[in-house]
Amino acid sequence: MMRRVALRLARDLDAFAFPQVCPGCGAPAEPARLLCAACRAAIPRLPVALCARCLGRGREPVGCVSHPSHVVWAAWVYDERAACVVHALKYGGRPALASALGEVLAAALPAAARPDLVLEVPLHPTRRRERGYNQAAMLADAAAERLGVPRLSAALIRVRGTAPQARLDPLSRRANVAGAFRVRQPAALRGRSVLIVDDVVTTGATLEACLDALAVAGARPAGLALAWAQ
Ligand SMILES: [Zn+2]
Ligand SMILES: [Zn+2]
Repeated sequence: MMRRVALRLARDLDAFAFPQVCPGCGAPAEPARLLCAACRAAIPRLPVALCARCLGRGREPVGCVSHPSHVVWAAWVYDERAACVVHALKYGGRPALASALGEVLAAALPAAARPDLVLEVPLHPTRRRERGYNQAAMLADAAAERLGVPRLSAALIRVRGTAPQARLDPLSRRANVAGAFRVRQPAALRGRSVLIVDDVVTTGATLEACLDALAVAGARPAGLALAWAQ
């Protein structure tokens, strides 16, 4: 009796953790993609590049030609549907969701911006331990596979701890992550065009710090994010 109750409870919990309906509209949806096709199609796309440097300084981030090593492509403009996906990716124990996002990420990148290598924004080690995975690394895997471009893991490391960015204003965010990243093997990146992947770009401070470190190492860097949260 107890066993049957326990089994039913486990099944209910499973259905809760892996909903078969789209959280955007309630229609049936593939669990691997979370959202139904209509909700996925309804997320606004961003067909132009952002400048990570101008973004954090309150300047127009679209159409900047002054900072070629701070170009960031974002697939989606963050809305409530994108938020469901990002949340499930980060906190919902649904890292497998990342592999279905490869085509979304690859489609955000113009053909001319095809890189030599794909890297990931490293997660804070504490966060990595808590979560058990780095969602940016999984998105980087998916993007690299879809683009047919080699993937280089752990090319950047965090050389010092940083506070969580979410509660900081743009200026503090920049100070928080400036100089926090270092390239491990500059020789592997020198002269190469490298694409560094993150889940969400907000003020651009984290990507800017990564792009700076990559440029210092002699790479030609660009960023790619799943979503831009304005
Ligand atoms: Zn839907
Ligand atoms: Zn700029």
